[in-house]
Amino acid sequence: MGKLYVVGIGPGGLEYMTVRAKKVIEKSDVIVGYTKYISMIKPLIENKEIFSTGMRGEIDRCKKALEISKDKNVAIISTGDAGIYGMAGLILQMKKDEEVEVVPGVTASTAAASIVGAPLMHDNCNISLSDLLTPYELIKKRVELAAEGDFVISLYNPRSKGRPNHLKECINLIKKYRKGDTPVAVIKNALRENQDAKIFTLDNFMEDAVDMLSIVIIGNSKSYIDKQMFITPRGYENKEKF
Ligand code: SAH
Repeated sequence: MGKLYVVGIGPGGLEYMTVRAKKVIEKSDVIVGYTKYISMIKPLIENKEIFSTGMRGEIDRCKKALEISKDKNVAIISTGDAGIYGMAGLILQMKKDEEVEVVPGVTASTAAASIVGAPLMHDNCNISLSDLLTPYELIKKRVELAAEGDFVISLYNPRSKGRPNHLKECINLIKKYRKGDTPVAVIKNALRENQDAKIFTLDNFMEDAVDMLSIVIIGNSKSYIDKQMFITPRGYENKEKF
């Protein structure tokens, strides 16, 4: 009898993987995952059996992973955290009597935040702009209410060719509630090869800087930029007092 590990491998750079994630990958006989993510952990899986599929193969991947885990130890991998737009939910929905352990990882928002400063210091939320599994009307409603509620907002899956205007529309919704000088960070490939980070404001934001390998973090009403760092204060202290 084997075990299925649902593993968040972190943002990509191997140093940012948890010790537990590395350990369970090492003790797995089979690794299941999207081709691009498999390549990120190549040095750890040289002699292992690999089952990889393209982007849209999630259900097949989960089925296969559950099936193999009856006899062998299997790791099914997601980037970041497996429980945040990753594989953990689907595996638990599909699981019958297989043994499953979810291993958490450093998600894109916290990885990206560490690069630009401390933007997530106060209440914050993640919203995925992907409308493959969520109606766009609901996405817009959540963006608008998060803006009204003054949450710092991390936008996952912010832009793709199939929905070129959604990011701009969502930024415009946020502008109804936030000042034009609110910081907006675009971090591409956080904590992995080809990392790039840019800081804009809502007024000079350029969505061309954004692609599917990026995450966008929009500050709350108290966020500011100081010495090229994006900071959201924890309380309402006046920084002149420090
Ligand atoms: N489970 C993942 C999220 C998968 S959704 C996690 O917890 O991070 C895929 C989206 O995550 C991408 O479109 C991008 O918006 C974001 N993302 C994942 N890794 C990233 C990274 N290293 N840098 C920037 N954005 C990343």
